[in-house]
Amino acid sequence: MQFPICNDCAKTGVLCPKCADKLKNKEVSEFEIQVFNAIASLESKYNLSEANVDRVVDFGTIAVVLTKGNPGVLIGKGGTIANEISAMIGKRVRVIKILPDVKKTIQEIISPAFLLGINEVYKRDGKYFKLRIKKSKNLIIPETDLKNAFSTLLGGSIILSFE
Ligand SMILES: [Zn+2]
Repeated sequence: MQFPICNDCAKTGVLCPKCADKLKNKEVSEFEIQVFNAIASLESKYNLSEANVDRVVDFGTIAVVLTKGNPGVLIGKGGTIANEISAMIGKRVRVIKILPDVKKTIQEIISPAFLLGINEVYKRDGKYFKLRIKKSKNLIIPETDLKNAFSTLLGGSIILSFE
């Protein structure tokens, strides 16, 4: 298993000074630690040796687990592992592989809605990312949750534009 914090900290949920610093510096969130802990607790039940968790993004009712490895390792046969994680954290779980192109990763997350593009917009109060999404009824994640989550993911304020 590979988490942004050490495995012992993920397993126990009690942070060593190094991981406590990561929480303090907002490299990881309380929510992510809760999810790491849920995943680590399944280690004895499933083969998670190849599991890689890079980030967990909170979309309100859905948690998106971003992995650099094979998503199947965290989804399990027929979704068994994802379902167990879901039951522990009380949110639906989607596991998505991080793609080198952030646009593709975001497309995966909002699917079946369609991302037309991302523009950087400069306003008086700073830089914004404008996510242009095709107008449709397919957006399953509420807009405010999308904004908050993408703001974390992209490291800036978000404007959603439905075109
Ligand atoms: Zn640690």
